[in-house]
Formats: sequence, C-alpha cells, structure tokens
Amino acid sequence: MRFACIDWSARATWKLSAVLAGAALIAGVGHAGALPRESRVPGGVALLHVGDATEPRPAVSRDGVPVWVSRQATQWVAAVGLPLSLQPGEQQVDVRSADGAARTITFTVKPKRYPVQHVTLRDQAMVEPPADVMARIERESAHLKVVRSQWRETAATDAAFVQPAKGRLSGRFGGSRVLNGKPRAPHAGLDVAVMTGTAVLAPADGVILDIGDYYFCGKTMFIDHGNGLLSLFCHLSEWDARVGDSVRKGQAVARSGATGRASGPHLHWSVYLNGTSVEPELFLPARR
Ligand SMILES: [Zn+2]
Repeated sequence: MRFACIDWSARATWKLSAVLAGAALIAGVGHAGALPRESRVPGGVALLHVGDATEPRPAVSRDGVPVWVSRQATQWVAAVGLPLSLQPGEQQVDVRSADGAARTITFTVKPKRYPVQHVTLRDQAMVEPPADVMARIERESAHLKVVRSQWRETAATDAAFVQPAKGRLSGRFGGSRVLNGKPRAPHAGLDVAVMTGTAVLAPADGVILDIGDYYFCGKTMFIDHGNGLLSLFCHLSEWDARVGDSVRKGQAVARSGATGRASGPHLHWSVYLNGTSVEPELFLPARR
C-alpha cells in the first residue's frame, strides 16, 4: 500500500531566463556540508559563484526574490531554488555588489523526467472539494503563499539536513500525480511512510514559522532555517513546539499522522528555497 498525499502546492509560475556559472569550481570549496547538493533541473538547486569572499557579500535575487548567499572558502556562493514548473534552458539571477554594481549570471537548466504516481483516495471531498470549502481553501492558499515567501536573514544557515523521520519513502519529489484517475499538480515534497505518532525531527536549526490545520495539508508546521530555506511538514497528528520557538537540528518538533488529504499515515516533507519547492533529498546525504 502506498500512502501519499496530493498537495495544493507546486505553483511557481515564475519564468527564469538565463543560467550558467562556474559549477565545476564549486565541488572543491570548503564547508560543502553546509550547502545542498547541486542539481540544475526543475525542482533542483543551482550553486553559483557570485563573488570573491574578500569582497563584501553581494545581494542575489531571482525574479526579484532574494536568494541565499553563503561564504564557501574563498567564494560567495548562491544556492538558487529552481521551480518544478521551470522550462529547461537558459536561466538567470541578478547580482548586486556592495558598491551597487549590478550584473546578471546566466546558467543552463537541464530537463528532468519525474515518474508518474497514481493515488487513490476514498474520501471524494478530498478529491473534488465541495463548493462550501472553496473559500476556506482559497484563504489558506493565500496565507501559505505569504508563509512560503518568508525571508529571515541569518549569519549561518545549515543545509546539511537530518531526515525528519526514518522510514520507507512512499512518495518521491516531483512525480506527476494522478488522483483517482485525474491529473494533478506534481508532488512537491517527499513522503515517508511512518506510523501515526512517530516523532518528527527538525532537519536543521531554525525557528517555528507557522502552525495550522489546513484543508489539504492537515496539521501543518513550517520551520524557518533562515535565508529563505524552509521546511514544511503536513498531515501531522500533534505539534510539540509553538510559533516563534527556536529549535535545534534533530529536535522532535511534532508527531506524524494522516490529517488533511492523505491516503494513510505518513509524513509529507517539503523544502523551500527562495520561495520555491525543491528536492528534499538534495539536502540529505547522498544515498549509496
Ligand atoms: Zn506528500
């Protein structure tokens, strides 16, 4: 049995243009554990050299959205989240140095084919929500959009995550979803098959950004890891932290469940970078 969820998300309709910078240089720099692994595909992360670390940190943005820039040995490196909806090809980011000079860095995003996953839900109200809950769904969607665009600048953001729950991966990131025979948005997270009540761990240090009980996501928690890097947990049964709490990597912050639009108990985990959902496995140690 595959337990999975169908998300409301994966909306990013931004258009990237340009792409291309010194990828080959990045593998050799220090502090590599603090960055995600690079994957220049829709739903992936591009690591771009944006300046020499002897200079002040430059400001980087993509379509006006700020991008996380960290010092990696002798370089400033931008970690750019690439939307699942992105058309492969040339993409770009804007770089502004401390002295005000502006330039554009271009890079290339390659295509990636994600698998199709068929999901069956018995609760028809979760497949085609009744008219009387549409106002609620729209209200929650607007709220969650604001939450996902959170930007809290911090000196250190740690992207070497621990997996928030151990278990079989029952739904991978990026797969197109067919729900009761009807196509839906791709899956913008990772599903881990765990029993209701399993401890959910903070993947890295952060601050609890949002807690709510939403129609699709069920009991939900967002953790802000700083500099536009967020974790989202859905379908929880309980919360063990409050909004504003500082949490440490590996700390139990919630319990898994099957609330919201879920076909059974599992943890749904999404990772957001510069407002876009990206592959959570890029933030975990590579599988052998
Ligand atoms: Zn999911």
